[in-house]
Amino acid sequence: MKNFILLGATGSIGSQTLDIIKKDKNFNLLGFSFFENVSRAKEIINEFKPKYVTMKDSSFKDEFNNFKDVTFFYGERGLLDLVKVEENATIINSIVGLAGLAPTVEAIKAKKDILLANKETLVCAGDLIKRLVKENKVNLIPIDSEHSAIMQCLKVGKKKEIKKIIITASGGSFRDLSRSELENVTLVDALRHPNWNMGKKITIDSSTMVNKGLEVIEAHYLFDVDYSKIETVIHKESIIHSMVEYKDNGIIAHLAVPDMHLPIMYAMYYPRHLKGFTQELDFSNLNLSFKKMDIKRFPMVEKAYYVGKAGGVLPLVYNTSNEVAVSLFTNGKIKYLDIEDIITKSIERFKDENIYDYDIDDLLEFDKKVRSFVLEKWS
Ligand code: NAD
Ligand code: MG
Repeated sequence: MKNFILLGATGSIGSQTLDIIKKDKNFNLLGFSFFENVSRAKEIINEFKPKYVTMKDSSFKDEFNNFKDVTFFYGERGLLDLVKVEENATIINSIVGLAGLAPTVEAIKAKKDILLANKETLVCAGDLIKRLVKENKVNLIPIDSEHSAIMQCLKVGKKKEIKKIIITASGGSFRDLSRSELENVTLVDALRHPNWNMGKKITIDSSTMVNKGLEVIEAHYLFDVDYSKIETVIHKESIIHSMVEYKDNGIIAHLAVPDMHLPIMYAMYYPRHLKGFTQELDFSNLNLSFKKMDIKRFPMVEKAYYVGKAGGVLPLVYNTSNEVAVSLFTNGKIKYLDIEDIITKSIERFKDENIYDYDIDDLLEFDKKVRSFVLEKWS
């Protein structure tokens, strides 16, 4: 029996992970966390009978009085308690945003293997996470379609033979709009992703291409590859999930229908490919197209390279300013293009205050500074 503790079980990745646990009788949901979705959390408890559950805070406590066999934890502290409950468990982190950082760090310190959808953690704390993973000898496997693909393509050659990693990008909801057409787009427009059905934040991040920026930084930390060897390309069909080009100019690609169940499964069964959950690829009507990334149209990709190469806490500035901007946009407080403006001005504001030797408290402190800067100016 393999035990999993699933953080963010009520979200898009969380639900798809539960689909997989349900289908394998050797998988057990030992514990999970949710934030506010009480009714879905009750369904999950009834169906999966976990022993431990963490929720946002104790305000929903009484709603769960009937579940006598479950131990409940609350708040940020409760996430840290949850990842430590039992020795024999793998942590799946599918929380959205930097809220996923502290539980990731705690899980690694508790010597738990971690399957990480929460890319914000790696982007903001890449050096720290890599050091902890090494010190504690745990496995960290990405749950992101591109990085799952790259991991598989990297099995073919040696690290020193890599010429470049090519990350594909669907282009998001506004792929075919010009910059002037972006001025008055709405939240409803932004949430209409052509290929993937995902949580709100990542859907908006895909449209601004910040998601691709985060993924470039994620790839740098995961695979220890210099930014000069990481490229992005627009591939609107989302069939090739990423590629690795070797020094002989041969390119290895990973193809599959766009369905997150596959990268989630790869992480859960790593390194095996045991069963099919997603549809087979149908070649009878398959056209694949590619377009060079246009950095004038998608300036946030270039900004990601800038903060990535600078290192230190600048990737956190990129990520946190985006998190706050997206939530302001989602709440109708700013216009779509203000998201880019907020990220650009935040980087400008903090670029001369970069710190390189940080621990988690320094990061969380910096995160607060960036949040206040954005909220004071834009809300
Ligand atoms: P989502 O919004 O659907 O779900 C997020 C989950 O996090 C929910 O369970 C929510 O309850 C929980 N949560 C939100 N704020 C929290 C907080 N402050 N503290 C604790 N828990 C909190 O998001 P998603 O689309 O499932 O994405 C989750 C992560 O996976 C993100 O980092 C995203 O970038 C990454 N990811 C998602 C996809 C996808 O297809 N959805 C693909 C690749 C990577
Ligand atoms: Mg991705």
